[in-house]
Amino acid sequence: MTYQELVNQILSLQDEGLEIFNAGKSVLGKNILATHVGSYSGTQILIQGGIHAREYITSLLMVEQARNIFNNDLVKNGGIYFVFLTNPDGAEIVLDGIDSVGCEITRNYLISANGGSRDFSQYKANINLVDLNTNFDAEWGGGSQNVFCPATEDFVGFYPESEREVESLINFTLRTRPLLTISYHSKGNVIYYGFDGESEANIERDRAIGESLSASTGYPLIFTENSTGGYKDWCINSLKIPAYTIEVGSDSLAHPIGIENLPEIYQQNKDVPIIALEKAIEYSKDIDFTTPNVQNIHKENTDGPNEKSYCSRLQSKLDRRSAYRSFNRKRQ
Ligand SMILES: [Zn+2]
Repeated sequence: MTYQELVNQILSLQDEGLEIFNAGKSVLGKNILATHVGSYSGTQILIQGGIHAREYITSLLMVEQARNIFNNDLVKNGGIYFVFLTNPDGAEIVLDGIDSVGCEITRNYLISANGGSRDFSQYKANINLVDLNTNFDAEWGGGSQNVFCPATEDFVGFYPESEREVESLINFTLRTRPLLTISYHSKGNVIYYGFDGESEANIERDRAIGESLSASTGYPLIFTENSTGGYKDWCINSLKIPAYTIEVGSDSLAHPIGIENLPEIYQQNKDVPIIALEKAIEYSKDIDFTTPNVQNIHKENTDGPNEKSYCSRLQSKLDRRSAYRSFNRKRQ
């Protein structure tokens, strides 16, 4: 599969009457594609995937979910946002290879961070070598696997929410106000819930909803330990809403998980959006909703860099760094 074929899969939902819009932009200016199913008033939930570059199987899963619940009578009294591919720049590198990066400076920078290898099939980060699911402001930098310099995975960024994809997803979440979120990752066939410091009452609420998701998927439900800076963590910590990470695909499969596994993964996850929405409606029944302005929800900030401007900015950053190094050598 190529990156364009992945994007085409998402866009193909338009043929069935679903509207595809942008939740925001990537560092290189790519659109972060999203859709909405159901009613814009009432309880909303948000499902996102593809935040790790090599995990694009989750985007394909969400396309199937959206296709199959569109026009479903069960989606009433609320709606579901799908943000299909939160890290499009990273997914393109995994799917099309390192030569898809047009800018030579960026390409060489990434290859050197990848230990000199041109095999990017295991890549997780965005174009800035930041692991987006560690860049959110939720006990940022406190995870047991965090690293603190640019790397193909686990680099938390130079400061919380430094990355445009993270800023995009946060802004989109604040505009759409979901009362539950699900983050799809691969792999392991497991559901994570909770966050250190969450109140006992909220942990109990999240566990109860998580049990329903666990029963439907057949995946065990596990309380999160030693994880910080993720989107799920931020939703629980800042918004106080139930949020889950669902890892799809058996642990015995290799990254990236092949498309031939999609039917089985879809079977396990087909009812997750409906159950999550029903449970969110149930726990939020006493909340009064004002119907949002849909125009406002779809409005995204389009200011910012694109592929060309990124390349020249990186060059000037590297130039300044080497000028500083030679200045330091002279001084000594
Ligand atoms: Zn992941």
